[in-house]
Amino acid sequence: MKVKCLIIGSGPAGYTAAIYASRANLAPVLIEGPQLGGQLTTTTEVENFPGYPDGVEPFTMMDDMRRQAERFGTQFVSGIVTKVEFNQSPMTNHQSHKVWVEDTDLYEADAVIIATGASAKYLGIESERTYRGRGVSACATCDGFFYRKKIVAVVGGGDTACEEANYLAGLCSKVYMIVRKPFLRASDIMQQRVLNNPKIEVLFEHNTLQLTGEGKVQGADLIYRKGAPDEAIRHIDIDGFFLAIGHHPNTDLFKDYVARDAEGYIITRDNSTQCYQSPMTNDQSPILPGIFAAGDCADPHYRQAIVAAGSGAKAAIEADKYIKSL
Ligand code: NDP
Repeated sequence: MKVKCLIIGSGPAGYTAAIYASRANLAPVLIEGPQLGGQLTTTTEVENFPGYPDGVEPFTMMDDMRRQAERFGTQFVSGIVTKVEFNQSPMTNHQSHKVWVEDTDLYEADAVIIATGASAKYLGIESERTYRGRGVSACATCDGFFYRKKIVAVVGGGDTACEEANYLAGLCSKVYMIVRKPFLRASDIMQQRVLNNPKIEVLFEHNTLQLTGEGKVQGADLIYRKGAPDEAIRHIDIDGFFLAIGHHPNTDLFKDYVARDAEGYIITRDNSTQCYQSPMTNDQSPILPGIFAAGDCADPHYRQAIVAAGSGAKAAIEADKYIKSL
């Protein structure tokens, strides 16, 4: 199938790109991917997206965005993109970019907007899945508010964990940090903030065995110095368990074509959503015409729905301009 504008991903970036692209008469096709609605749907309630003064359920919000895109003619395809072939010089050889869904359905597009998001890393313990959305979260900015005056734990010892612990300390009565090493990996200033905060207790050399609770998180069993002579099991009472052990951008599929940083985030040209060709040697490297990236797959810093939505709008505006230039 030949299309002008193909959008990959169904989070706030993808849907907003679809709203803008369809209103620009690009008749976009949006491939919804493995997690309809994106990462946001792993949270409980959204209270920080403008326009919803009483908060909104994430599924409702994403469905609203989807219907808004549908209203202007976006076509949705449920399925997973399994292969891409991006053309380095489509403007000169008039060949569009190729995207395969489920290995079989080929889409040829003048412009592709990558909005595949990022996935928070989880520990991989069974109870983490059991309590997801019921005390387990991977975003303190999104969910911290629900734990006001309560006790929470943050897992991780990097900058994100320290930032989240400090943020939560402003809301919660107590914050444990569960750190597997005997030191924090975070920058000095972030470490100092954590260590000087009387509400934060850092549990060094602890790992989480399991979460406990009746229908929601009420506690965690930890192991101290596993395998050492002084190994010990410890239980802490908590209401919330926040993962901050890193994110993985969902960009592996594009690595042969699109330049990424060391963590896998897509590098976009200054103040735009245009992608660079891979391999990228410096910021004078050539861009990949017609390929745009929006949302968390290209954003290691903010990871907020509103920021993703904004970059989705930018990507669609840039894609429209590009298509009109062909
Ligand atoms: P990092 O990779 O820096 O840190 C991850 C942390 O999680 C480490 O302490 C790591 O432990 C721990 N961890 C990983 N896997 C597990 C596991 N299975 N069990 C227990 N602990 C685990 O990720 P961040 O998200 O913190 O940061 C990513 C990048 O973004 C960094 O470059 C960071 O500096 C940057 N950043 C900067 C900020 C700022 O400047 N304000 C804010 C946030 C992020 P270990 O140390 O043992 O490997």
